[in-house]
Formats: sequence, structure tokens, C-alpha cells
Amino acid sequence: MKTLDQLTFDNRFARLGDAFSTEVLPDPIANPRLVLASRSAMALLDLDPAVSEQAEFAELFAGHKLWSDAEPRAMVYSGHQFGAYNPRLGDGRGLLLGEVVNAAGEHWDLHLKGAGQTPYSRMGDGRAVLRSSIREFLASEYLHALGIPSSRALCVTTSDTPVWRERQERAAMLLRLAPSHVRFGHFEYFYYTQQPEHLKALGDYVLRNHFAECLEQEQPYAAFFREVVERNAELIARWQAYGFCHGVMNTDNMSILGITFDYGPYAFLDDFDARHICNHSDDTGRYAFSNQVPIAHWNLAALAQALTPMVEVDRLRETLNLFLPLYQAHYLDLMRRRLGLTTAEDGDEGLVQRLLQAMQPGAVDYSLFFRRLGEHPVEQALAEVRADFVDLAAFDAWAADYRARVAREGGSQEQRRARMQAVNPLYVLRNYLAQEAIQAAEQGDYQVVRDLHDVLSRPFEEQPGKQRYTQRPPDWGRHLEISCSS
Ligand code: AMP
Ligand code: MG
Repeated sequence: MKTLDQLTFDNRFARLGDAFSTEVLPDPIANPRLVLASRSAMALLDLDPAVSEQAEFAELFAGHKLWSDAEPRAMVYSGHQFGAYNPRLGDGRGLLLGEVVNAAGEHWDLHLKGAGQTPYSRMGDGRAVLRSSIREFLASEYLHALGIPSSRALCVTTSDTPVWRERQERAAMLLRLAPSHVRFGHFEYFYYTQQPEHLKALGDYVLRNHFAECLEQEQPYAAFFREVVERNAELIARWQAYGFCHGVMNTDNMSILGITFDYGPYAFLDDFDARHICNHSDDTGRYAFSNQVPIAHWNLAALAQALTPMVEVDRLRETLNLFLPLYQAHYLDLMRRRLGLTTAEDGDEGLVQRLLQAMQPGAVDYSLFFRRLGEHPVEQALAEVRADFVDLAAFDAWAADYRARVAREGGSQEQRRARMQAVNPLYVLRNYLAQEAIQAAEQGDYQVVRDLHDVLSRPFEEQPGKQRYTQRPPDWGRHLEISCSS
């Protein structure tokens, strides 16, 4: 276990030089207070959880202090936003403070979001508000607990620095951890600005530090692209299987590591709706739930374009074609598990599709459906979930097939239950729960958000006295409009 001053830095990205990032110091926020910290994220840095109580902790993560070995820098990147190319984005309000090496030898980027203006701020104030920082914290740690790859969140600090959005809010900072902050948009930036030597340097950098196994392949850059396609196919399969809508799948929000990255107006589905749009500003539904699969493919094609100086076009195209089948295989595997099935049958894909079709017109809570389906023997479970379906003929036809399918699986109900509860969360990060926690935090009460984070860190395990967190949203919480401003 380490104290704060024992962290070891090795700032590899900073050493790439000024073509890749610009030196900027954090601009502190006034009178910083710790809102919450993640013990499991602290463990990634070998930090003793007790250090989060020290005043120095909030000072470091609110920009008042800096390690002498940190080298804060704003990264440059570009990207496609809602399908249109934006030639210059970059860290407009976040800084890569440096890379910490832990006892296991892993490098973790310390990225301070909301750290003030940078050369990439354009018209922005460089700040993040408390509401969006809390949302990113909760989601990062919750997706990780669900087993969905994600950037992590170490802590949120708040302040008395006013920030103007639709109303006056408080400036906050989020400390994000990730093995790398390189996005698809980093490659696009060097491609579209026609800097082939820097594009290659970036490729070599990620190969060396993040995809070392690809260096052993005949064509390392092609192998790298294939790995990115594979990881994203698996990631999106997890999003779809668990009902996660990202909301802003711009290429600057896509990590080359295949981790969930840059949280905005995201949502977990409450009632199942394939067409759900969680981003209030997404008028055309480009990033609707069911579009996440083709959009991820589109984003990978945008990355492929940026790699054309280094990899043959035919090779890139072949690799891109792997995305859908890889996605489908992962998705089917996850859905089988969610349904309690351990064997594979030809009809399983249809079984999953017909279930979702039957859910679509009703008010079926997507997460609780799977949890409840495993709770009791199949006959009783089916009778219980039936009440939420509107198209009862479709449900009954599906239920008959499912009942027969479970019978062919064999095994005891006790085994089935244990298997299903281990993959179907009881506790879900619902927008209304996040909203309640944010409202309390805005009033200076941080206990609500700390309790919520605590419950969500063990989503599969029934926790005594936490029944309240399993409730479906109340009316006010059903159709919250989550603003894109953050
Ligand atoms: P995001 O919507 O957070 O993915 O941000 C998209 C781009 O806008 C990135 O280049 C951000 O750094 C930048 N940006 C977002 N909010 C601000 C802000 N308040 N000040 C400066 N830049 C911002
Ligand atoms: Mg972003």
C-alpha cells in the first residue's frame, strides 16, 4: 500500500513530444471537497484507501497540488461527431497528468477532467460540472463491476467555483484512469492533417505500449487493427446484452483499447425499447440503442481510413468484415448465459430475437426480467414475468420454446438459479437513482451517492436492506431528459 507521495510516474505519452500534446497546468477549483472515491480504483494505483480522507487528496485532484514527476499535457485529436468530421478537437477540459506505474508494472493514465482551459478548448470554459462528473464516476465503476470493459474513476471533487450551463452550477473534477487515452480520433487527426510520420509514430507507440503481441505478427499495424475490431465487437456485444446506451459514439469517444470511454448522457434501459435514444440532442437517433452495432462498425471504418497509409485497403476491408460475425457470436454467448443456458443450439438466436420482439411493445423492465427469470423454477418464473408483456400471444409462444429449451438443458433449479444470478444484476445504475444522488450532492450531501456507488459495486449479490435500489423508476424518473451539456 502506498501513500500519495509514493506514486511512481513514467510519462510515455508526454515523451512523444509537442506534435501529440501540449504542456498545460491544471487551473484549480476553489475550496475543493471530496465527493467520493473508488476503493477498487485506488487499488489499481496501490493506494491505501485511507488516503482519500486526507486534505491533500482533494487538493491533488482539484488542481491545487501536483506531483513533481507529473507532466500535465492536453492531447490533440480530431474525430467524427454525429457523422461529420471535426478537424480539431483535443483535450479541451481534461489533462493527462501523467502515467503511474503500479506494483504489478501496469501503467495507468491519470486524466483530470474539468482542469481548465487548454489550447483545444475552442469556445468552452474548460470545466466540468458536478452532475456530469458524478454520472461518469458511477458509470465507470458500475460497468467495471458488471464485467464491461471501461475507463475507471478514482474520485470526484467539487468546489465553490461557479460554472454557467443552462443554470449556474458548481465546477467539479473527475480523475479518470485508463491504460491509455488514445482514441480513434488521434489517428484521424494525423491522417487528415497529412502527417504520415506522426501517424506512424503514434502507431508504433500504441504497438509498443499497448499491443506488444501484434509486433510479433507479419504485419503489426494490420494485426493492431484486427485487435481493435475484435475488442470493440466484444465491447458492443456487452453493451447490447446489458442494455447500455452510450449516447455519443463519436469517433473521439472511442478508445483503441475497446473500453467504454467518455460518458455523457448514457442510460441503461429501464423498459426494453430497441429504439431508445438517451441523448436529448440526438434528433435523428443516430446513437439509438439498436444503432450502436452499425455505428461501432462505421466508427471502425473511420479508423480504418486513417490507417490506409500503413495497411493495405483490402486487408482493412477484410478485417472490418469480421466485426459483425464476431459481434454476433459474443452477443449470442452473453444472451445464452443471461437466459441460463450453458449449451448451444441452432435455434438460440431466434429464441433471443423473439424474446426482444415480444418485449418491445410492453413495459418489461429489461434488467429485472432476466433476474426474475432465474429466481424461481421455470414454470413459476414465466408466470411471474408474463404480467408485464402486452403481446401475450408472442410471449406465450416464446415461453413454450424457452420451457422446452430449459428442459433439454437439464440440471437442477438450484444450479440454474446460481448461474443466472451470477450474470444478471439485481442492482442497476438507473438514471433516476443517479439523479437522486446528484440532487443530494448538489445540496452538499454526499452520502447518497456514496451509498449508491457502494451498492452498485456488487451488482449481482443480494445485499440486505438494499431493496430500495431494486425498484423500477417512479413516474418522474421514467423519461428523464439528460442534457448533453456537461
Ligand atoms: P465531449 O462531448 O466531452 O466528448 O467533448 C467533445 C469535445 O469538446 C472535446 O474536445 C472536449 O475537450 C471539448 N469540450 C467539452 N466540454 C468542454 C468545455 N466545457 N470546455 C472546453 N472544451 C470542452
Ligand atoms: Mg469526448
